Amino acid sequence: MLGLQFLAAAIARILAGPVSGTEAIVVAVVAVYWPLQEYALHRKMLHFRPRRWMGMKIDPLASRYHRHHHRHPWELRYTFLPSRLIAMLIPIHVLVWWKAAPTWEIALTGIMVFGGATLSYEWIHFLTHTAYRPRTRWMRTVVRRHRWHHFKNERYWFAFIVPMVDALFLTDPAPADVATSPSCRDLETE
Ligand SMILES: [Zn+2]
Ligand SMILES: [Zn+2]
Repeated sequence: MLGLQFLAAAIARILAGPVSGTEAIVVAVVAVYWPLQEYALHRKMLHFRPRRWMGMKIDPLASRYHRHHHRHPWELRYTFLPSRLIAMLIPIHVLVWWKAAPTWEIALTGIMVFGGATLSYEWIHFLTHTAYRPRTRWMRTVVRRHRWHHFKNERYWFAFIVPMVDALFLTDPAPADVATSPSCRDLETE
């Protein structure tokens, strides 16, 4: 679904003609925003601990799903966002760009770049949970750090595509300085 969204937006954008300066700004803004969103959603939403509020239990589906992912890190279907969620988010994503962008060309660029970032995240996260052998230094760093997050200590290394975001938010200790967490497979006991 994400691949189709990316391809459709890319083809439509190529057919729409030359690229404007505003679109270069859109690409730059998404490039800065995406790694921060990745970090914030992982740290704050996926690792949200169930709590009671005014008698109600607050435990979002995404957090439950992520707890399951930590419990079963080699069950590959849980490495992906639920397909129903993707199917729901794609039309919302297109609508937001269509409403927010002043022209269709800018909207198409936004859909392509933001959708492309989501697709890259999903694919790279999937690879970090397989026996895939990274070929670049950057990919080796991403894989190593994500394995630390899963098997060393779940309170660190939330960043993904841009590992240095962890340094920005001080969740980037030297692994030797961090105790192995007994709860990294079972987040509920954290
Ligand atoms: Zn993972
Ligand atoms: Zn996690």
